[in-house]
Amino acid sequence: MQDLAAGVARFRRDVFPAKAELFAHLATTHTPTTLFISCSDARVVPELITGSEPGDLFVIRTAGNLVPAYTAGADGVAASIEYAVAVLGVTDIVVCGHSACGAMTALAEGHDLSALPTIADWLRHAGASLARTADTGVDALVRGNVLAQLANLATHPSVARALAGNKVTLHGWVYDIPTGAVARLDAAGTPALAA
Ligand code: ZN
Repeated sequence: MQDLAAGVARFRRDVFPAKAELFAHLATTHTPTTLFISCSDARVVPELITGSEPGDLFVIRTAGNLVPAYTAGADGVAASIEYAVAVLGVTDIVVCGHSACGAMTALAEGHDLSALPTIADWLRHAGASLARTADTGVDALVRGNVLAQLANLATHPSVARALAGNKVTLHGWVYDIPTGAVARLDAAGTPALAA
């Protein structure tokens, strides 16, 4: 924890004063335009790779950037999606997978998860990803999984309504850790460099 405390001190001393005006504005304003859904993986930092400022991205991070298809009942992921779309009115939603994803590796390589029942249960939300990925290997599954989660996203009523009204656009991305490249996936899952 010592490193984190030192980081907080550095933030207060160096970073915060330089953006004092922004933080004063954000104290009473929350108007992100993008819902960014990525993996919890520590190597994927949405604000860093998109050059975003505080207040720009509404972020949901889950293991494997999985978005369970909508079901009635309490669910933190679903509640965050509904808030971003129906209350904040985001105009874009990005589902961002990444290279060397532990969750996708476990699925692609059929790891034994019997000692990790919660993870095994959670990864069932990637079932369609496995089914729609004809190619084998982690990279193909990472891409197929992004498309599957975009489809799951569209089952949420708030998202379905926004899509029907042309108020939101869905995007599938894959971030490559060793090169920093971000590929944008088309509907077939074919990657093209985003920038
Ligand atoms: Zn991951």
